[in-house]
Amino acid sequence: MKLLSTGLSALIIGVGLFTAPAFAQDKGTIGIAMPTKSSARWISDGNSMVEQFKAAGYATDLQYAEDDIPNQLAQIENMITKEVDALVIAAIDGTTLSNALANAAALDIPVIAYDRLIRDSGDVDYYATFDNFKVGVQQASSLVSGLEARYPDVSPWNVELFGGSPDDNNAYFFYDGAMSVLQPLIDSGKISVKSGQLGMDTVGTLRWDGAVAQARMDNLLSAHYTDATVQGVLSPYDGLSIGILSSLKGVGYGSGGQPMPIVTGQDAEVPSVKSILAGEQYSTVFKDTRELARVTVGMVQALLEGGEPEINDTKTYDNGVKVVPSYLLEPVSVDESNWEEILIGSGYYTKDQVQ
Ligand code: BGC
Repeated sequence: MKLLSTGLSALIIGVGLFTAPAFAQDKGTIGIAMPTKSSARWISDGNSMVEQFKAAGYATDLQYAEDDIPNQLAQIENMITKEVDALVIAAIDGTTLSNALANAAALDIPVIAYDRLIRDSGDVDYYATFDNFKVGVQQASSLVSGLEARYPDVSPWNVELFGGSPDDNNAYFFYDGAMSVLQPLIDSGKISVKSGQLGMDTVGTLRWDGAVAQARMDNLLSAHYTDATVQGVLSPYDGLSIGILSSLKGVGYGSGGQPMPIVTGQDAEVPSVKSILAGEQYSTVFKDTRELARVTVGMVQALLEGGEPEINDTKTYDNGVKVVPSYLLEPVSVDESNWEEILIGSGYYTKDQVQ
């Protein structure tokens, strides 16, 4: 018996020793709630965070909600029930999490809003994102330089506008940033929006759905462009741009001597980078998700291990209850002239992935 128990404890010690590396992640578990796998950027965000949290000694519980609001809420509630040590949330609808986050706060679980601001809650500790207004400025600036290059002799330029999902706070920042460039040109008559459709309540695209954008572009073309041409489309996200481009191609743009309008985008997703290289989509905005993960992991480490999370903005992001201290990263406008330097040079993609 004694022998057996000695043998058993040796075995237990042995197992303990053998499994010791697993305890490298014994600093705790971080719950990560991401919106959807339907867009590659969120997959990169999730993977980068898992990798970087692991390197910092944390386990992760990463969940995707396929753009279903109750699904995401249930995932977050479940993480809170399991008492994760911190929550990182890229919300589908930034206004639906207040009750869940109150429960998190009651358990002292810190909450980081990831990329998208969580609204109407005092229980959001920090916000890690990009300069979202600047994203819009870059989209519109690229649109205008594309119009100047492709249509130097056209006046006014006919442009249609698309916005992001109205339940995503970012969508308003992108739109407002873009309009800070476009509105003066609309006022001076250099740009005409023939449909008259302006404002996020009119041009928003629920859930950032490319099929919705494609259908709206079809309608715009048949209602306003049967005897006129469109020269530019402001698109806030690559997934919408691909739908908009399909619609334009469907009525003959981009072939038979009819140039493709200037179409913008965001996220530098592979299909859009390929489209830029094929001369279809004009530009996108690259946001390095590895960097956003790095900032977020740093914030969580500071909150759990002691220290001050790094922030560089304490004014911009009022969520309706408080101004959430934020770190804003720099977006980069990408087009045919710099894609290689920015996307390949940074190691974000290999050439094979996009060519
Ligand atoms: C993100 C964008 C993304 C969009 C659609 C926004 O909140 O900031 O990068 O294109 O959601 O997923």
